Parts: sequence; structure tokens; C-alpha cells
Amino acid sequence: MSKVLLTGGTGFIGSHTAVKLLEQGHEAVLADNLSNSSRDVVDRIEQITGKRPVFYEIDVADRQALADLFRKESPDAVIHFAGYKAVGESVAKPLMYYRNNLDTTLTLLETMAQFDCRRIIFSSSSTVYGASQPPFNEDSPTGGCSNPYGWTKFMIEKILEGAAHADERLSVVLLRYFNPVGAHASGLIGEKPGGIPNNLMPFITQVAAGKRDHLNVFGNDYETPDGTGVRDYIHVVDLAKGHVAALNYAESHTGTEVFNLGTGKGTSVLEMIHAFERANGLTIPYVIAPRRPGDLAFSFAETRKAEAVLHWKAEKNIEDMCRDAWRFEKGLL
Ligand code: UDP
Repeated sequence: MSKVLLTGGTGFIGSHTAVKLLEQGHEAVLADNLSNSSRDVVDRIEQITGKRPVFYEIDVADRQALADLFRKESPDAVIHFAGYKAVGESVAKPLMYYRNNLDTTLTLLETMAQFDCRRIIFSSSSTVYGASQPPFNEDSPTGGCSNPYGWTKFMIEKILEGAAHADERLSVVLLRYFNPVGAHASGLIGEKPGGIPNNLMPFITQVAAGKRDHLNVFGNDYETPDGTGVRDYIHVVDLAKGHVAALNYAESHTGTEVFNLGTGKGTSVLEMIHAFERANGLTIPYVIAPRRPGDLAFSFAETRKAEAVLHWKAEKNIEDMCRDAWRFEKGLL
């Protein structure tokens, strides 16, 4: 069993991963500056698992605070979720994104080296595939990102790869997420974006809750079966299990390894709206709006590598994602 530091541990994916780690007997230490999450997530993780994770309200880029954490906790491994993630905001404030996401990672890696911690799992994104053609596999070319957020993921992958190349004792696992949605079945933890949601599922749940009057469908003239954008949505609980599998893998392997975490199935915006309506017995009003700049028509994963090497496969379907996302949103009302 490992003691695992989760940077960004009270966020959407971090909190679900903390639950899975605790359920499997690992120890979880969460570090978060609460810039996009709240302290009550720690209580909720305890409510679900019966175990209270250790929580540090720190900025991972704060070298002193991070060193204090490592001195006290001596984690065996790190799962690095901390980072800004709003695509549109990254276009408006690129320097803030580069500074925060890169600084956090560099400080983390230097501190890990200082304290002989040699395993790191990184929250990367399918956005690094940029202009490649789907289905994306782990050898598809990367780069050509359409926004600074995507470039920070690309650059951090390179930084980690370089660190592992220079120190053969390091174990780096890069997890490229497709579109994480859904929530824990308890309805206690989920995705809680501040302000107007950028992503499809939180927007749909806010329309369902009456917080917004309709959904804008960004384009219906793509070369896809119904003209709307197709994505590979993955339930956050499946994603969390993928992190535990990656952690087990990192225990017995050094060097850098990359895995896609997706389902391999594409769902269009209209299919998602209708699945949400069916799963929850609701109507989601929508209008067709112009395309959103930078959007791809299609994105979906080739999933064979994670299945073969990590022995992990997503199990939940679109209906589970819609039902669980709505249960969490209702709990906020
Ligand atoms: N989308 C939409 N309306 C929204 C938000 C998203 O039509 O209010 C579409 C978007 O154009 C894309 C899909 O939903 O085709 C998923 O978008 P999201 O931002 O969730 O993920 P990403 O585009 O980053 O994969």
C-alpha cells in the first residue's frame, strides 16, 4: 500500500481518485489551494469512505510549504492534478496559465527529487493530440494545440519525460484523459465549475436545474453523423480507477509511459442531450449556435494500450454519466 500525494486533490478528478485510493487501502494526502474547489470536499470524501484524507491548504508552487508537506508526510508517489484548466481563460490569460501550470510542476519535481520521491502520475489531456486524426492512440503525433491550456499539458509531458530520461530511477505515467463527466454515485462529490460552465455536461446539468434557460449547441454543420461535435465522454469514477491502475504500474516500472483514458466511443452533442433527457426524465431546451473557435469535429480514444498494460477498461455508459451528473447537481440545489 502506498502513501499518495494528490496535488489538486479536492478538485473534480482528484477527489474521485482520493475515494478510490482510500477504498483500496492506500493513504491519501491532498494538497490544494482551493482556487477551484472547497474544503468541504474533504468531509465528503470521509463520508463516502469512512476515512479522512490528510488535507493541506497550500499552493504547490510554494516551495517552502511543499517541502514542509514532504518532510511531514514522506509520500511514496504523487498524482499531479493541480493546474488551471479553462480553455477560454487560457487564451485570455496565457501567461497566468504558463506560469501557474509550469511553475507548479517544476517545484513539485524539484521537491520530489529533494525527498527521494520517484513516482509521478500526471493528469494530461487528449488535447495534446492537437491536429492528429482520431481515433488517437498513444503514438499519434502530439503538438499543434489550439490554446495555451493545451500547450501547458504538452510542455509538462515534455518536462516529465526529460526528468525521467535524466534520472533512471524515476517512474512517470502520463494519463491522457478524454472528456471526464459524471459524479460519484453518492451524489456527494462531482464537478462544480465557478461561473458559466465551459464544458458540455455541467452546462446541461445547470440548464436542467433551471440555473440557465437553454444550452447553446456549438455548430451543427460538422462532418459528423448529426453535424454536432463528437467526443469520448468517460465517467469520472472509471477515470479514478485508471489512476489506481497507473499507480500500481508505476510501482514496478521506471521511465515514461503514456496511456489514453477514454472509452473509445464517440457521442455527439445532440446524442448527449437526448441521453440526459432519457436518463433523467427531463427536457433540455437548446438552440443551435455558431461553432466555438478551436473545437474539433471528432475526438475519441484508441483504448487498447490501457486495457493490455494497465488491465483497466472504462465500464460505465452514457446513461450512468448523465444520471450521476444530475444527482450531484440536484444536491447543490
Ligand atoms: N458544447 C456545446 N455547448 C456548450 C459546451 C460544449 O455544444 O455549451 C460542445 C462542444 O462544441 C464540443 C462538446 O460539446 O463539441 C464538448 O465540449 P467540452 O467543452 O465539454 O469539451 P472539449 O471541447 O474540450 O472536448
